[in-house]
Amino acid sequence: MAHITSDMSDAQIRRVLRREKKRRARIKVASRLGILILVIFMMIYLLVTGIQRIFITDTHAADIATGQDIRGTIFVDAGHGGDDPGAEAKGRLEKDDTLVMAKAIKKALEKKGFKVVMSRTEDVTVDREARGKMANEAGAGLMISCHRNKATEGQGIEMWIPSANGNADRMLGESIMFYMEKVGITANRGVRAGTLPDATDDYAENRTSNMPSVLIEFGFMSDDEDNELFDTHLNEYAAAVAKGVSKTYANLYEKD
Ligand SMILES: [Zn+2]
Repeated sequence: MAHITSDMSDAQIRRVLRREKKRRARIKVASRLGILILVIFMMIYLLVTGIQRIFITDTHAADIATGQDIRGTIFVDAGHGGDDPGAEAKGRLEKDDTLVMAKAIKKALEKKGFKVVMSRTEDVTVDREARGKMANEAGAGLMISCHRNKATEGQGIEMWIPSANGNADRMLGESIMFYMEKVGITANRGVRAGTLPDATDDYAENRTSNMPSVLIEFGFMSDDEDNELFDTHLNEYAAAVAKGVSKTYANLYEKD
């Protein structure tokens, strides 16, 4: 820009002032345009984030959790393992079935937004008493222990909760049973407190853990129908367990 100096003629001064006026007008237009563009960008941004928010609330929150929004920890115990094969029937070992089921449950629970800690992920020996303690150390909110039954006669799903028969343990067992029945089972043998020989005793997993827990007998290995259901409905059963866990967890820990 030109400056007005004392040796300028009136015409020169007028020219300089005219040019300065035009320059200011241009700046005014440019700054208004800048503000307009900024406002348009802000509106577009708000529109896009608004649409995203609507989309996210429409989708079930648990289904979009991918590890960033962990709801909590669930301990999944694959019964027996290593030196302890558990029950043996129809060419099957309980320790193999429990591991397959526990792994499927882990996957289903992760889809529901949980972190899953397992007692074992391969065929290794783990002390029964240690499993509940592992769950405590993991800070788990709920514990699921996977087993399978064996008998000369009998079929269906059976669950065992601690002998104290607490509301949270029962809620966990009953809601898992509810969703498993929806998938289809040969019989509902009940959610029972204590152990088979003694209602005042506890299975080691239930006794040593300090959070609501349930030991699930996923059908009878001695029954062909139960075995077929176990093999063909593995993922649906796992999803049913995850649904029951999710519902119970929400009831116990996610209420406002
Ligand atoms: Zn067992």
